[in-house]
Amino acid sequence: MKAKRINKIQDSIFGVMSALAFKHQAVNLGQGFPDFSGPDWIIEAAFKAMKEGKNQYAPTQGIYSLRKIISEVYSKHYNMNFDIETEITITAGATEALFCTFLALIEEGDEVILFEPFYDAYLSDVYLAGGIPKFVTLHKPDFQFDFKELEKLISERTKAIVVNNPNNPSGKVYTLEELQQIFELAEKYNLFIISDEVYEFLTYDNIKHYSILEIDKERKRSIMISSTGKTFSMTGWKIGWAIANPQITDAIRKVHQWTTFAVNTPGQHAMAYAFSKLDEYLPYFRKEYQERRDLIYSELQNTLFKPHKPYGSYFLLVDIPTDVEMDDIEVSKELTINNKIATIPASPFYSKSQEGKSMLRICFAKTLETIKKGIENLKSFKSEKK
Ligand code: PMP
Ligand code: GLN
Repeated sequence: MKAKRINKIQDSIFGVMSALAFKHQAVNLGQGFPDFSGPDWIIEAAFKAMKEGKNQYAPTQGIYSLRKIISEVYSKHYNMNFDIETEITITAGATEALFCTFLALIEEGDEVILFEPFYDAYLSDVYLAGGIPKFVTLHKPDFQFDFKELEKLISERTKAIVVNNPNNPSGKVYTLEELQQIFELAEKYNLFIISDEVYEFLTYDNIKHYSILEIDKERKRSIMISSTGKTFSMTGWKIGWAIANPQITDAIRKVHQWTTFAVNTPGQHAMAYAFSKLDEYLPYFRKEYQERRDLIYSELQNTLFKPHKPYGSYFLLVDIPTDVEMDDIEVSKELTINNKIATIPASPFYSKSQEGKSMLRICFAKTLETIKKGIENLKSFKSEKK
């Protein structure tokens, strides 16, 4: 018999919708991955590392040069300084960093606060660690939260608050004040903050992203998690990291050691090189995404699916027309099968609020042609009552 904890684990909606998109040959604006490759010069760097024989296990904590360049990048971009040896751990994507962090910190019966809409992995991670999720809703249209509601949720069993900034799926970027409020609560009640910042370099309209570690300067209670997948458009390489104080890092590494042990070696070398070119690369990367965000946001105004403007990440939420009687799951299936446009129903990102049932998530990490084609297909949806 399988373990009971598995009963709570759902299939990822991203995989489900991508399979449906493939089956029906739909334009895939669902699962979050670029439909273009990352830069050639990074691929060449990986090839060079392989040719040079960098093909055996990496150290469990990650290769030194990658941890070093990450510490330099953060020192330059945020003025945060980390110990290369004891505070940075390279993981198999942010997904593994999250899993190791939850397993390292959450005990059976501990409560963990999630802001919804939440990235779906958090829920499974809480369950796999034996924890109990509690939810605070970021209400549309501006995805703000009620500070009092957040404080009321905290009990003597609460162990951590999870923040995803910028947020997948809403595109919300937390303000400095919001992060400070969350940090103050964590201080008051002695909680961890698990901060998923995989879209840290992807904000729009010159909005600034603040890392939780800029606020928790002493790194008493916060863990920052990020990934190369989004920044360098190489989601399939699965190279991410967790940054935390040495005690928390030690606990994370204990789990990481027995989960993957180490992350693929040539990919780490290539990413160390990629980060050394970040300053030249970032303006181009951000400009391309700003163009995609602007195009999709303006094109969606001409459809029945009105968009909520995203300020970060490569996702946005749209409202399902109110006269449609189907829920989000039914609409997304119908759109994929009949209109040849795959999206992600928003309800899997929610647990407490019903708001998700009236929305779909759209990914715009796509070429302008793919975005235009997707919008064209979306326009073919007729909203008369069924
Ligand atoms: N966190 C968020 C918010 C994400 O959107 C994703 C992937 N899209 C991940 C974590 C997983 O990152 P990775 O692919 O590096 O495991
Ligand atoms: N994070 C991606 C998304 O939000 C998907 C990652 C995955 O499929 N595991 O769509």
